[in-house]
Amino acid sequence: MKANELRKKYIDFFVSRGHKEISGKSLIPENDPTVLFTTAGMHPLVPYIMGEPHPAGTRLTDVQKCIRTQDIESVGDPTHATFFEMLGNWSLGDYFKEEALKMSYEFITSPEYLGLDVNKLSVTVFAGDDDAPADNEAFEIWKGLGIPEERIYRLPKEDNWWGPAGTTGPCGPDSEMFIDTGKEACGADCRPGCSCGKYFEIWNDVFMQYNKKEDGTYELMDRKCVDTGMGVERTITMLQGKNSVYDTELFTPILDKIGEMAGVKYKDDESLDNSFRIIADHAKASTMIMGDPQGVKPSNLGQGYILRRLIRRAVRHGKKLNIEGQFLGKLAEVIIEMYREVYPELAGNRDLIISEFAIEEAQFNSTLKKGEHEFEKLLPNLLRNPKKVVPGRTAFKLYDTYGFPFELTEELAAEHDMTVDREGFDEAYKKHQEISKKGAEQAFKGGLADNSVMSTRYHTATHLLHEALKTVLGDHVAQKGSNINADRLRFDFSHHDKMTDEEIKKVEDMVNEVIQAKMPVSMKTMTVEEAKALGARALFSGKYDEQVKVYFIGDFSTEVCGGPHVENTAELGKFVIKKEQSSSRGVRRIKAVLE
Ligand code: ATP
Ligand code: MG
Repeated sequence: MKANELRKKYIDFFVSRGHKEISGKSLIPENDPTVLFTTAGMHPLVPYIMGEPHPAGTRLTDVQKCIRTQDIESVGDPTHATFFEMLGNWSLGDYFKEEALKMSYEFITSPEYLGLDVNKLSVTVFAGDDDAPADNEAFEIWKGLGIPEERIYRLPKEDNWWGPAGTTGPCGPDSEMFIDTGKEACGADCRPGCSCGKYFEIWNDVFMQYNKKEDGTYELMDRKCVDTGMGVERTITMLQGKNSVYDTELFTPILDKIGEMAGVKYKDDESLDNSFRIIADHAKASTMIMGDPQGVKPSNLGQGYILRRLIRRAVRHGKKLNIEGQFLGKLAEVIIEMYREVYPELAGNRDLIISEFAIEEAQFNSTLKKGEHEFEKLLPNLLRNPKKVVPGRTAFKLYDTYGFPFELTEELAAEHDMTVDREGFDEAYKKHQEISKKGAEQAFKGGLADNSVMSTRYHTATHLLHEALKTVLGDHVAQKGSNINADRLRFDFSHHDKMTDEEIKKVEDMVNEVIQAKMPVSMKTMTVEEAKALGARALFSGKYDEQVKVYFIGDFSTEVCGGPHVENTAELGKFVIKKEQSSSRGVRRIKAVLE
């Protein structure tokens, strides 16, 4: 079974079980300062798991683009990529453990769906500890479904527990599903979760049944939720009897293209294979980040910086394969084609993706030349150090003066059997940051689902700012990103020129006029189509019949949004734009406060 069929089967199965499809959410989280990318299907659903009603109901399903930068070091092993897709189904206070596990079991084993051999299925459940008892309920349900006891493993919190998202809130045990690849066990205690590759984790069902309280104790909740995540890449790997996600159609066309450019095929020379996989993965993740409706371009900040690192790492590995000239744009063409049906936004952003790759590759090639040249100059001295450690301040100087990333200094050093003093580098980096960016840490206060009064005010102020910008600068202004915490709002929008002082003042005045007019804020739930007909501002990536919330601020602003908002603009105080700056090419950034 191919990925296209798997996605469809999954959604169809859960829709036939009363779920609403809510696919189409961005890779870049809105209004969540704690993470840069969506890391799981449940991520955009956190507020609803916390209790807010979801406009589409209590049973949801989707396919979600995910990026996990924390897995970057594992890229190239059989099961990890930085970009992957997660299928998911949710119960928001609707069904619980029994129905969830039964549906998972049916979907995996029924010949009508995946038809995987039930004898190859192993599962894990929470073993219990001082905080919460063992999940015997899940154990019994699996047993009842026909999984023999010896293939139901009890594992501790590290393996079988999720959450809470912050320090308090919903959390609970989970149950993971593994397919036995048939490989020889690596030892007597080889079991699901072991990294030897015998057991391939494909799906995880999380049962949010506890609330972790301030005092660190766990209380059972009345309203229980289920969150599940099944990896598309891993599941098709198992369905196709392959050993690695990199052997499936979600990677082979990219690997083939790399081979064509390198003049050596993937798997012809084992020592080069990991570079192939890293390039394929990073090219795909970068294409997805730039091609997202909320896409960003390479920069030195936030998502842009991660993107820059992915591109640069791919370029470095391209050198290892002796690929000549720029190559990422050519891989992007292949990737856009591969995902044309599922993620049409990529084709829509094709020109931007290709040209950004070209600019970044050119810049980095010249950075590399300078940095490597500088490193060569330092080398005789470095080699004299008997400890074979490159001092942190040397690495920092390369970074600061030539833009040469730490990881690359590390790689160059490794080529000469040296390591780099990371602590020293961090120290130098920190010192530098403290001097140049005093107070920057402040900007990242706040947290996931930070529903404080101030954040709510900033949320409403953001709608006013968006509308005022459109009125003052023109209809080309589109939201490119938004980030809110209790101290300020940050808003990125498409606009080519620096705003003049006069334009800034006009926008500020307009927002303050609406605040002083004490306009009421109201909300209505409707379909995307209805919202569109009203002229509501939105990204409209969802389905036409999907239910959305539309917020009205008097007659000034109509915008699709998850909320929350104040009840009347009078609650906002005085709106002041503190900064207007460039965010990336063609995108401006405003930071504003309420005083
Ligand atoms: P692992 O322990 O193997 O890293 P995980 O426990 O981090 O997996 P979950 O957070 O439970 O995974 O995510 C749900 C599903 O998403 C997994 O069962 C897997 O199918 C898929 N998945 C997670 N991380 C990756 C990744 N880096 N690349 C590909 N698929 C992934
Ligand atoms: Mg993981």
